[in-house]
Amino acid sequence: MANTTELFGENVFGPRVMRERLSESTFKSLEETINTGKPLDAGIADEVAEAMKEWAMEKGATHYTHWFQPLTGATAEKHDSFIFPDFKGGIVTQFSGDELIQGEPDASSFPSGGLRATFEARGYTGWDPTSPAFIKYDGAGAATLCIPTVFCGYHGEALDKKVPLLRSMKALSEQTVRLGKLFGIDCGDKMAIATLGSEQEYFLLDEELYAARPDLIQTGRTLFGKPANKDQQLDDHYFGSIKSRVAAFMADLDAELWKLGVPAKTRHNEVCPAQFEIAPVFESLNVSVDHNMITMEVLRTTAEKHGFICLLHEKPFAGVNGSGKHNNWSIMGPDGKNWLKPGDTPHANAKFMTIICALMKAVDTHADLLRASVASAGNDHRLGANEAPPAVVSIFLGDCLTDIVEQIEAGGASSSKDGGHIELGVDNLPKLPRGNTDRNRTSPFAFTGNRFEFRAVGSNQSAAGANVVLNTIVAEAFDYICTRLETAVAGGAEFNAALQDILAEIIKEHKRILFDGDGYTAEWLEEAARRGLPNLVDTEAALEALTTDKAKALFSKYGVLSNQELESRYNSYTEAYDTLIAIEAGVTADIAKTMIIPAAVTAITEYSAVSAVKGVTDEMSVLLEKLVAGIAVLEAAEGEKAKIAAMNEVRAAADALEAIVPADLWPLPSYTDMLFI
Ligand code: ADP
Ligand code: MG
Repeated sequence: MANTTELFGENVFGPRVMRERLSESTFKSLEETINTGKPLDAGIADEVAEAMKEWAMEKGATHYTHWFQPLTGATAEKHDSFIFPDFKGGIVTQFSGDELIQGEPDASSFPSGGLRATFEARGYTGWDPTSPAFIKYDGAGAATLCIPTVFCGYHGEALDKKVPLLRSMKALSEQTVRLGKLFGIDCGDKMAIATLGSEQEYFLLDEELYAARPDLIQTGRTLFGKPANKDQQLDDHYFGSIKSRVAAFMADLDAELWKLGVPAKTRHNEVCPAQFEIAPVFESLNVSVDHNMITMEVLRTTAEKHGFICLLHEKPFAGVNGSGKHNNWSIMGPDGKNWLKPGDTPHANAKFMTIICALMKAVDTHADLLRASVASAGNDHRLGANEAPPAVVSIFLGDCLTDIVEQIEAGGASSSKDGGHIELGVDNLPKLPRGNTDRNRTSPFAFTGNRFEFRAVGSNQSAAGANVVLNTIVAEAFDYICTRLETAVAGGAEFNAALQDILAEIIKEHKRILFDGDGYTAEWLEEAARRGLPNLVDTEAALEALTTDKAKALFSKYGVLSNQELESRYNSYTEAYDTLIAIEAGVTADIAKTMIIPAAVTAITEYSAVSAVKGVTDEMSVLLEKLVAGIAVLEAAEGEKAKIAAMNEVRAAADALEAIVPADLWPLPSYTDMLFI
């Protein structure tokens, strides 16, 4: 294998290649657009396009595509070749600046949630120069130049996940820069950047076993299956030594990701047998979201090369852990520093504690929106299932920060836990701990030393949605604090005193969002209810958060989503949910009727001849009756809740049958077959 340093970014049109292939002035101009948000100079597009094409063709590419992220949560591409007839019977290759900057992929079949009718279905893709273009090789060696783009309608309506993400990053940057100025940090026109590192969990399954499971093929999860007697109880898989077949896959995966410029860093076995995790080094949020989309695709394609199928569903197997995507989020200020690092200078501490209070206000005010941002049929099986955070959103700060928060609330001055003196006044704040010693694995939103980790995102979801919400609600809280501070100082108040008052007020109002205990317990759910924290148990309930006046006001104020765009998300996500449940119901009925009933009938027929097993025969007959009755209920069920309840009944009868029907008659690979590679 080539040297890792050379391998990294080999297939990316990144700074290294751009510097080599673009003129000095074009490179500078593009770099400024990427780093400072300066509007793209359309005049350089032709040169960039030509350089991209030359580079891509040298690397074997014949086609290019605008690569975008529609509301399905997947990525989309439509390939165009570089060829153009020379009208003398031959061809020339070309790729113009216009083609780089804008595309019109029709794409009318993507969900738009009512944002456009098919008769006015024009959709446009537009180049996002802040996320580098890359070359994707399919299994057969064909290569395509992929250009990350936004996807919008004729009037600029956001039809995708990237437009709102970029808008939310801008809103957050503006308010962060403003906050910085109040703390004496003025970096001219430099932006603040939200950063993201998303840990990605996944399962691997042998491809032959997958092929024998119509439920996995059609829905991504097993709709039937008796639990294995041994799965994860012994915790013998978690962080265990990686089996060689899996290790070979992981090595290949890392190499492929590195070539694409994805900074894959950590790999390990997860809790459940057959479950694993890959985590990258954090990057600028927009790039990191794109890189996570790429990671999910490379996981799938690399798995296939190794005879595996990679399952990204949040809950492929009932009864064992599901998969999430821990969303490690922070803010890099315009000074290039991580503003969620507690730091050890008093000045920075006051800013840091201001940000912590802003997050308390943001998360408490909009807990429902954060919950909505991770709502999906798949994630419903995970949240609150004692393996992932509950559906109640709360913040974990850890002992030390909680203590400081309490002191600010009480007036600002008292002893800190380790005996020192503490005051919010920028002169004598304590040294805060760099690393957070205590870790809490059950909190949905945890401070982890230098970032917040939102743990409720589902493994199969785009990370964009959760971060759109996070960026926007934090921008709103910063805006609130800045306005209060600016007004107070303009009115003659002393800065530190004003800040102390504002933070104490925020803490009083929002401290109910803090919870450091075990989030998996029933007591917490009761306590959360007493505190008035929302517990939106399923997708149907959670998505309603997108329809409130509070949500509309928030997203429109910061120019992230217009009311119409917000409504389109609600429509599109509820429709996707309903459709998925209908598909699951259909597959459940099909498998029960065409695979499980016949197996049970065969078993009952064979057993009826032997009186010694009469008890077993009777038991199978009772279960078979239950199964048949359950199918009838399922087929008549209307509404998602009724369908889900009926599917559970059918499954219960089928799984009980699986425990007694002879294994060689059972038509589906078992959990034991699938969970052990
Ligand atoms: P753990 O499992 O202990 O949470 P991991 O190493 O698996 O830790 O993942 C931590 C993730 O957090 C990594 O992707 C890492 O790059 C990311 N991270 C670290 N610092 C920041 C930061 N400032 N902003 C965003 N993400 C960060
Ligand atoms: Mg983590």
